[in-house]
Amino acid sequence: MNTFNTLTIALVSALSVGCTSNQANNTNESFSAQPASQLQAQTLPALKIATWNVEHLAYPIDTGCRARTPSEIAAMKAYAKNLDADIIALQEVGSKAALQQIFSEDDWQLIMSSRADSKAYTCRQTGALSTQQKVAFAVKKAIPVLNTAPIDQLGLARAGLRYGLQITVNTQQGPTDILNVHMKSGCFVDDYLKSDSPACKTYAQQAPVLNSWVEKHETAGTPYVILGDFNHRISAPYNRLTRTLLSDERSTSITTSQLLGCQARYPAPIDHIIVGGMNAKNITKSAQVHKFKNMDNKAMLSDHCAVSVSLTANAHSLSSAVLWQTTSKEYKALATTTYEQAKAAVMQLPNTAHNWVAVMDVDETVLDNSAYQKQTELNGKGYTPQSWQAWVASEKATLVPGAKSFIETVYKHGGKIALVTNRNKQNDLHTWNNLKAVGLPVTLKNTCLIGRSEADKNAVNSNEFINDKDLRRQQVTQGTADCYSPSGQNNNWQQPQVIKFQVGDNIEDFSSVTQESANIKTLQPKLGKSLFLLPNPMYGSW
Ligand SMILES: [Mg+2]
Repeated sequence: MNTFNTLTIALVSALSVGCTSNQANNTNESFSAQPASQLQAQTLPALKIATWNVEHLAYPIDTGCRARTPSEIAAMKAYAKNLDADIIALQEVGSKAALQQIFSEDDWQLIMSSRADSKAYTCRQTGALSTQQKVAFAVKKAIPVLNTAPIDQLGLARAGLRYGLQITVNTQQGPTDILNVHMKSGCFVDDYLKSDSPACKTYAQQAPVLNSWVEKHETAGTPYVILGDFNHRISAPYNRLTRTLLSDERSTSITTSQLLGCQARYPAPIDHIIVGGMNAKNITKSAQVHKFKNMDNKAMLSDHCAVSVSLTANAHSLSSAVLWQTTSKEYKALATTTYEQAKAAVMQLPNTAHNWVAVMDVDETVLDNSAYQKQTELNGKGYTPQSWQAWVASEKATLVPGAKSFIETVYKHGGKIALVTNRNKQNDLHTWNNLKAVGLPVTLKNTCLIGRSEADKNAVNSNEFINDKDLRRQQVTQGTADCYSPSGQNNNWQQPQVIKFQVGDNIEDFSSVTQESANIKTLQPKLGKSLFLLPNPMYGSW
């Protein structure tokens, strides 16, 4: 399976997740009954991610620094459900058993930080013995967790310091790393480097760990989320951590920066959700703070409210160019008419002609890649060398209308075909397989396939050649073409050929022509006679 198909499945997977969470009355059963093929990329719903510091959530519930009653636990459970989130990052979780009280494992996957238990201390206000304060994730069961990893560097190899916890899930943007953090408390200044407090000194060592994690993801171009209790007021743009993480060249943004803290006494919140590596035009981010029913100080279920962000894939519509190429009768009419003219020209060649060839481009001339174009528009990513390579390797391109009939006519009249393509030469095998797969009667004898090599790219700079197909056209005429040959030898083309016809969808598919220099007046007498141009509004050298 090629990368593109994998991505499509990832999208569908993210979709099924979001639908269950956003349609509260829909059961999983009714959703999964919908065939995946009906799930269109345009209707991708939101993936909602939340973070909540649960303030010493413990089991048994009457232990630790924040002992709770059964009714408080029930209220926390109801609150967590009302977050309506697909993924919840939690901080200050004592144990998995503590978490199970809020999140039933019938519905959630519970992932705890692997950090070893640290020494208990005496709680400041109650005098009780503390329980563990670990980070954890609750992830809806419908979402496959592809990977989990402790980010123990945040613990600075010091007992009691919290690790980060990373999970990888599929989102609308592809596999996404989500990092849950609970940073060192007690450094609430704008510049941790300008404070001598032990907390800030620790913070100053944790910050570079976060920064390099972000840098790694930015460099790789992979989507990521960091969320949790930053113990730092990072909504302030002048905050050092904020300035560090959000440098100009990065795609990083704090989705929660406009939110106010849920307690009036602390308007600048310390719980945040940062995202990056996501194509801004593909996604709408909407953040919110989730207040408790009773915001009276003593009645609050935790000293932190949860915050969440919904990542909603923007609808992508197809361009007119792709719609025209894939659905219009006009395209089919023009392509077949062009090829019919080309066939008529072939028929007029005298029978005595020999060693003649028709030089053809491949993409959008013989093979139709509009399915690739369509999918790159629907997933909002556009052309990328990686997705193109995966498409070529899939050998799934279809036939341009009229091409097969023309090629057969050339063979019948004693001619040969030279396929001069700017697909990489390393792809010749895939191209050849694709040509055979669409039913073209190509053989090594009747057809010379020549993908683009480094020599072709370099030739353009040599002044001898105008465009990077000229070298290959010259080699065909001289009998030196490096035709595709699976056994390493293709001797059928080692004699000079005469180029009688050239067929392409780009003006540069014709000898010694460039987009810039093309003179239509000069080309006109040859068009429809020896040069044949197919329509391609989707891409080109224009
Ligand atoms: Mg082309």
